[in-house]
Formats: sequence, structure tokens, C-alpha cells
Amino acid sequence: MSGPRAPMRSLDDALAELLAHAAPLVGTQTLSTFDVDGRVLAEDLVSALQVPPQDNSAMDGYAVRAAEIADEGVVLPVSQRVAAGSKALPLAPGSAARIFTGAPIPQGADAVVMQEDCEPEGEQRVRVRRVPACGQWIRRAGEDVRSGAIVLARGQRIGPAAQGLAASIGMDRLDVARRPRVALFSTGDELVMPGAVAPHLMQPGTIYNSNRFFLRSLLHRLGCEVTDMGVVPDSLEATVQALRAAAPAHDLILTSGGVSVGEEDHIKPAVRSLGSLDLWQIAIKPGKPFAYGSVGQAHFIGLPGNPVSSFVTFVLLVRPFILRLQGAARLAPHAVQLPAHFDWPQADRRREFLRVRHGANGGLELFPNQSSGVLTSTTWGDGLVDNPPERTISHGDSVAFISFAELLA
Ligand code: AMP
Ligand code: MG
Repeated sequence: MSGPRAPMRSLDDALAELLAHAAPLVGTQTLSTFDVDGRVLAEDLVSALQVPPQDNSAMDGYAVRAAEIADEGVVLPVSQRVAAGSKALPLAPGSAARIFTGAPIPQGADAVVMQEDCEPEGEQRVRVRRVPACGQWIRRAGEDVRSGAIVLARGQRIGPAAQGLAASIGMDRLDVARRPRVALFSTGDELVMPGAVAPHLMQPGTIYNSNRFFLRSLLHRLGCEVTDMGVVPDSLEATVQALRAAAPAHDLILTSGGVSVGEEDHIKPAVRSLGSLDLWQIAIKPGKPFAYGSVGQAHFIGLPGNPVSSFVTFVLLVRPFILRLQGAARLAPHAVQLPAHFDWPQADRRREFLRVRHGANGGLELFPNQSSGVLTSTTWGDGLVDNPPERTISHGDSVAFISFAELLA
């Protein structure tokens, strides 16, 4: 009944082909800078001013002319007081200005002595107990941002720090890529929604639907608008109906389960009856079966049903695909080399993504059960070791680690 198996293909080839289909979506949105966390910038942000706008103090203390303090213990009159938000007068020769963090440096001053190195002598004078270096504790105008500089480029994914930086150049609204509209459904007659049946009443052969929960959250984190269609029964008719309903109003239809070549796997014929579908055997573990196609204007991606396979193929393939739809510039996660504090004696033909976590002494520890059904590995772990095909690992070997902090962002 099952035809010839789809050929194995490498993850890199699969990703390249997937991304070749991911033409950035047309349309942007203008949002308050408060509301753009996680979104992708659709314009270059050019600064109309320099930041900081003028030289200012990095310390609470006294602004001086460094050349006037040749020795420790020099006493100077205090000629003015400059707080943050106030204006400074030029510094009278032979005097010091009381100054606070963020306050403008008086013209003529070229150093700030921190107050811990000074001793007030009454109200009007100060003893400087340490010889200052010219320029010390002064933040220079424009040292953060030059006027006319691009502070954030189009295609940049915006996070809290970028929101702050945009605000620092006076941007209260930003143009971002529009949200991809994603229809999500799970397949599998064995699936039961948590809450629908109490754990002690679960029938033999049934399991709770876990994929629906993490896939929905992963999509939200990537800025998607999600239509959650729940569970679609394992029948060709129901699958066709769900796809037909989803296609017109969505950029992507994402499913989990039903992409193997078993008799209950209806995704393939259903998508093919309405559009086109390639079934890929990706040479990774976990995660082998993966489907890409289209139904009308909508992209179609079918993930494997095993929870860890679903999770891993999402972060490695769907995540960059969705970021590319939004025009994001950086799609690939950074891997860092770290020592393995475990042995992995059995090499595999496929490239493996092992669930690991940082140990106390800087090495990586391995979750003992690497089965594609064991979701515990993904919460116990804090990232994946990207292990090449045919490679064994010995304690102390350097391995490529990709953190969940990056893959789930
Ligand atoms: P499938 O890809 O449909 O053959 O499913 C492979 C395995 O993953 C089976 O053991 C399914 O019961 C399980 N599975 C499929 N979908 C889900 C889901 N949404 N939540 C939890 N397990 C699932
Ligand atoms: Mg199934």
C-alpha cells in the first residue's frame, strides 16, 4: 500500500528548500514602540540626533579642569551645582562644579572626580583627594548613537533592548512586518484534550494532546496570529475539509501527526487532493518525517506527531521559515562549542539533536532518555547538542550546543 519511500535529505538541504519557498509576506503594520516585542522591523531606524545629546557625567562628584589638580589635596571653590536635567554654566577657572550622574558637563571642565574621592570643606569648597585623568567619568556626546546612524536595520527582530534603543532616539511608533496568519491543527484519533477527560478516566490507547500546546505558544512567540482548529479526526474527508476551510484566510497551515506512511496518515493524500505536497525524510533524529506543500495561497507544513520530533522540527525548520515570512535577517541559531560531560557511544546515520543541559562545572549533561516521545527531555534540558551523522561522543569532547533560549525566542 505504501509507495516508494521518499529519499532521505539533509537538514541543510531541507531548510534551504523550505526558505526558498518563504517569500516575505506583503504588508507592514505601524505599532507603538511598546507593542513590538518579538516582531520584525520593516524599516531602517535612522537617528535624527546623537545619544547622549551632550557630554554628561557618569558619576556623582565634581567637574574640574584636570590640569588644575596637579597634586592630591588641592582645595577648590565650588562655583555651581549641576543636576541631571538642568543647564550648566561655563566652569569658572580655578573652581569645581558639584555635578550628578547624567548632568551636562560645564563648558571648560574636562574631568569628573567621583564624590568618594572628594571631601567637602564647608558649603563652598571641596578638597580633591585624587589627581584626575583628563576625560575621566565623562560620557561623550554621541558615544552611543551618532546623528544619522542606522541604529536598527530592517529585518532586525525586536526585543526589549531594541525597544529601549528605538525609544532613545525618539521613536514612539515603528513599522513592523505583519503577523503571519497560521492555522494549526493536530491529527490523531487517540488524542484527548486535557480537561475533556480526567486522568483516571482515560481510556486505553488514548493520550493527551501535548503538541497543540507547545506549537501554539511557539507560534505566538514568533509573532503569529494563530487560528487553533483543534484536533482533526483520522479520516481523509475530515482532513480535506479542515484544509479547505483553513487555506483562504491563512499564510500557513501547520499540522502535527499523520505524515508517516501508515494507513491512518491522511495528510499526504488530503493535501495532494487540494494542492501539492512533498513528503521529506529528513536525516535528523528526532524528527524524520516532514511535509511541505501548499493549499491555494497557503503554505502547508506537516510536522511529525511524536512530541519531541514535532518540537525539534519546529525549532529547526518552522521557526526560520516563519521568521523569513516576516523578512527577518538572522534565521540560524548560534551554536557554541562546549565540553560534553557524557558518553554517546552509539553513532547514528542521521544527524542527532540531543537534549542536554549545563552542568555545574561548565560541561553538558545528557538527558538519559533521548526517545522522540519523551517530552520531559525538553523541559529538563536547556538546549540541543547538534551531533553530526556517524559521530560518537566521549566525555570531554567538544560538541556544538544550541540553547533553547535562542530556539524558543
Ligand atoms: P503520527 O505521526 O500521527 O504517526 O504520531 C506519532 C506518535 O506521536 C504517536 O504515538 C501519536 O500518538 C503521537 N502524537 C501524535 N500527535 C500528538 C499530539 N498532538 N500530542 C501528543 N502526542 C501525539
Ligand atoms: Mg497519527
